[in-house]
Amino acid sequence: MVIVGDDPASRVYVNNKKKACAECGIYSEEYALPEETTQEELLSLIDTLNKKSDISGILVQLPVPKHIDETTIINAIDPKKDVDAFHPINVGKIMVGNFDFVPCTPAGVMELIKESGIEISGKECVVVGRSNIVGKPQAMLLLHQNGTVTICHSRTKDLKEHTKKADILVVAVGIPNFVTGDMIKEGAVVIDVGINRLENKKLCGDVEFESAEKVAGAITPVPGGVGPMTIAMLMKNTVKAAELNKTHK
Ligand code: NDP
Repeated sequence: MVIVGDDPASRVYVNNKKKACAECGIYSEEYALPEETTQEELLSLIDTLNKKSDISGILVQLPVPKHIDETTIINAIDPKKDVDAFHPINVGKIMVGNFDFVPCTPAGVMELIKESGIEISGKECVVVGRSNIVGKPQAMLLLHQNGTVTICHSRTKDLKEHTKKADILVVAVGIPNFVTGDMIKEGAVVIDVGINRLENKKLCGDVEFESAEKVAGAITPVPGGVGPMTIAMLMKNTVKAAELNKTHK
């Protein structure tokens, strides 16, 4: 795990990931670099970790400071050690449906749906948000499971018209309480990916839980829903990476 700078949210995420590794018996190393680290220094560390045979997975906690180009960093990680699945090779593999790693958050959402016994095939699936980390891969994973997928974003006209049709609604926007009960179809499965910290320091999702739970057939809470699943999927990808790197040696 590599963390650059002292963003408090990133620090919490890295601590949780470290704790999860310890609980699973996965050996981990943390590299906490100062804010003023140069791109070259970060690239040099990634190169070292790419070559280090006792390290199977590399995770650079995002966001990196503004003077470092995120894409250059993602592209520098060995795709076989890319446990976040952000490298273009892994993104492309997800697109064609033949992948080793799945980005942790969308993978966690799929696991929640599967473990809850919810059928995706033929369902209207609406994903609100189209980031490379959540929305886009989420849509592809639902499509691979034969969902009829709609992706909504900030330019979508009449968002409610789309969300109201969803049998499965995944919301990853980053705006507190953005989706309200009146935007949800009766009995829908609602998955709230959002993690927002309010002024009173409380965490809340992108879905207004109180109004949404009255309409939804199933709904994930924040905190305690998708967040822990994301970390669990990171552990799964790391074990997969260890297996992959063993066979590639
Ligand atoms: P981004 O900011 O990268 O993407 C947000 C998306 O929401 C964009 O596609 C944007 O559209 C869309 N959007 C913004 N405003 C609107 C609007 N008014 N109507 C419809 N769509 C809108 O965020 P992320 O995908 O990285 O994260 C989303 C949320 O999920 C955040 O709260 C984040 O903290 C959380 N998160 C949680 C994780 C977990 O482990 N549970 C992991 C990762 C993220 P456009 O593309 O047009 O700008």
